[in-house]
Amino acid sequence: MSRPIPSVVATITMPPTSSASLSSSSADLSEGARERQLVRALDLNATGALPRRALIEALTRVGLRTDDQRLASSMTLLAAYPDDAQLTEAQLLAVIRPNLILIERALRGELVIPDFPALCDDIAAIAERARKAVGGKVADYIPQLARVNPELFAVSLCTIDGQRHGIGDVGEGFSVQSCCKPITYCAALEEHGEEVVHAVVGREPSGRGFNELTLNKDNKPHNPMINSGAIATLSLVQAQAQTADRFDYLMDFWKRLAGGERPGFSNSVYLSERQTADRNFALGYFMREKKVFREDANLVETLEFYFQSCSIESNTEQMAVIAGTLANGGVCPITGERVLRLSTVRACLSLMSSCGMYDFSGEFAFSIGLPAKSGVSGALMIVIPNVMGLCVWSPRLDSVGNSVRGIEFSRGLVERFNFHNYDNFVSALEYKKDPRRGADEGRIASATALCWAASQGDLRSIENLVARGVDLNASNYDGRTPLHLAAAEGHVAIVSALLSRGAVIDPKDRWGHTPLDEAQRGGHAAVCAVLEAAPAARAP
Ligand code: GLU
Repeated sequence: MSRPIPSVVATITMPPTSSASLSSSSADLSEGARERQLVRALDLNATGALPRRALIEALTRVGLRTDDQRLASSMTLLAAYPDDAQLTEAQLLAVIRPNLILIERALRGELVIPDFPALCDDIAAIAERARKAVGGKVADYIPQLARVNPELFAVSLCTIDGQRHGIGDVGEGFSVQSCCKPITYCAALEEHGEEVVHAVVGREPSGRGFNELTLNKDNKPHNPMINSGAIATLSLVQAQAQTADRFDYLMDFWKRLAGGERPGFSNSVYLSERQTADRNFALGYFMREKKVFREDANLVETLEFYFQSCSIESNTEQMAVIAGTLANGGVCPITGERVLRLSTVRACLSLMSSCGMYDFSGEFAFSIGLPAKSGVSGALMIVIPNVMGLCVWSPRLDSVGNSVRGIEFSRGLVERFNFHNYDNFVSALEYKKDPRRGADEGRIASATALCWAASQGDLRSIENLVARGVDLNASNYDGRTPLHLAAAEGHVAIVSALLSRGAVIDPKDRWGHTPLDEAQRGGHAAVCAVLEAAPAARAP
């Protein structure tokens, strides 16, 4: 009786079109040959004439957008053809050539999320569940926030390769509020470096409310993610410049992080913030007394600059690109511009991890395990380093000021994917997905290594691979399992070891042969005896 084939078999029995095999086979090809390979991939029916939309559809499928600045040259050339045009190979080549590297990676499935539609489906399911979360209420300390429709909801993501997706009210603007704090911190670090910035602000969670009148034992704000710390870091940004120029500088910084789109500004939020700012003024005076600011700093101007930065208006699409820039080590995914130094990103992500979620920061670090920052407008920026940035926006807040649905979404995200910072210390892949490029390649390599070790009689390697959680019943392209190979080679100790560790006893290869058939054919009597003695119904 043959057993069901375990799921990993599907991943290791892929026909030889995986990115790994493509990369190696095309590594030696000339650029011209590589370009032609791409055209052939788009023209699978070899018609010689390709609809103009074929390229756009192929790029869109993997999450690239036609307004991506890295594709600008190709898109300009493509725009010269009417919508229903059929392009010849030469025409298509001319279109692809200026942005060959990105288009090549996209068509070869080499972007960080190779199966982008599958990721989008998962994100949609997680978002749908989060959308149903009830409870919480919108911030009401200023009328501009109190008036926002509490049911608005949007999720956007941007991978480090600029693959983008958005769900819900992605175009709706909101004031960024405390989500400005990591950006301000980055701006200060870029301008002055860590030493100068941390001469005025600490890097410990405060264990207190985000706007509490308290400083650390050195009379500095505890960290840049709370009000006092954000005001202190902002006081360093372009400190010598005129107030208007400082604001322009900050907006330009945001624009570069967001991929070239300047965020908006809500004057009414700013005016309201300013009018209801007793606590922030109190913090300001307290810090001035404790000499947190430079002597020549103008306190009121500094506070106004802070209210302005909270009143920057953005949307989830822009904020996801900003989070994507942080995920990508400071290089904006959709422009390729290095906006932040690596050391700035490391510092910012560290403090987002420990202090980014108000009085829920420790709990968030424990259960979600990702750097994030939320604001009282209901925005939540999440960074998955080396993978992607996300922004969730939903105005209803819980008692500590985090978006109720944002928290729910974050939970769903790490329930479905192995994105928690420490997921790799448990065998997360047994119950979580890894959508990253290379996630399967590792398993394919391990399964191949197991088959090889079985055929060589290499028990120690088998033990190592089993310890790593490699599936004993994974088969190669021909349906040959480690047990087939060990039996065919007459390695009786290996056959016993595989069986005792749960190998299925009678899998059939593509010719219908079981391991016992192999042992009989090779005349390996001892192996036959072991296989015949083993209980036939042993489950994997
Ligand atoms: N503008 C708010 C304040 O300074 C920021 C609120 C927040 O998002 O934490 O109090």
